[in-house]
Amino acid sequence: MDPRIYNAPTKNTWCAGCGDFAILRALKLALAEQVIAPHEVLVVSGIGCGSKLPDYMNVNGFMTIHGRPLPVATGAALANPELKVVVVNGDGDSYGIGGNHFLHTCRRNPNITHIVENNQVYGLTKGQYSPTSDKGYVTTTSPDGSMEMALNPLAVALAAGSTFVARGFAGDPKQMAQLIVAGMQHNGYALIDVLQPCVTFNRVNTYDWYRSRIYKLDEMDETYDPSSSEAAWEKAHEWEERIPTGILYNREGIPTYEDQVIQLRDNSPLKGTLSLWDDPRPEQYESLKEQFV
Ligand code: SF4
Ligand code: MG
Repeated sequence: MDPRIYNAPTKNTWCAGCGDFAILRALKLALAEQVIAPHEVLVVSGIGCGSKLPDYMNVNGFMTIHGRPLPVATGAALANPELKVVVVNGDGDSYGIGGNHFLHTCRRNPNITHIVENNQVYGLTKGQYSPTSDKGYVTTTSPDGSMEMALNPLAVALAAGSTFVARGFAGDPKQMAQLIVAGMQHNGYALIDVLQPCVTFNRVNTYDWYRSRIYKLDEMDETYDPSSSEAAWEKAHEWEERIPTGILYNREGIPTYEDQVIQLRDNSPLKGTLSLWDDPRPEQYESLKEQFV
């Protein structure tokens, strides 16, 4: 499928050179490779530079309030398990404001793919330090440097029970597209944390800074076993000198949240005999309420 099918006419307001462009491209490539029609996918975001992404795609989109895309996406996946649900939001939205939802989505295991535009800074509000900023990171609002330890999202995801954990880099959209395909094919919650340079506010974690450190796990070690939680835990803690990209952890066979909801065992609400869309009579609504409330 031609990825241009997902192009939207909206004017893009990202800064020239922003890593978000590569994430947008990678998502389109990943959807095209899987031959997913625009109406079959929902992209959910929150608030932030990267959360503008649904506006730039010709698919179903939902911009939620700050930090809330994961529960909204989980609800959408429950209502229509056939929908391909993808969350795209930044590190502040995912790990800061939405940190609680992040933890519980990892252990809940809904069948959604979560792409985090991790630029280690709050870009939209002009560069304050974020949960993933390294300790000592200097900004205009933290002139003495961040006093807090950086959050390690991959280690947190593993500890909280995530069944798929990967890292991409905005300088390599092809690898990122492969990771997104793998995440979408995974049956359960898939976290893809993407190192995404903010060229306007983050003058430390630049494309060059990342390029001098990152390596591809599968190329460096062909024997790497992504089903091993011990190996993933070790790789999740590599930072500073060397930073691995690729699939750190992939465990199949764990029931998704949707698998365990008894009301979904026979059919999805949208495909069932009751359809508020086809037949919105009050008695249909009452019957539906009896099943789900
Ligand atoms: Fe991208 Fe940073 Fe510009 Fe936001 S401020 S659009 S993250 S470069
Ligand atoms: Mg950010």
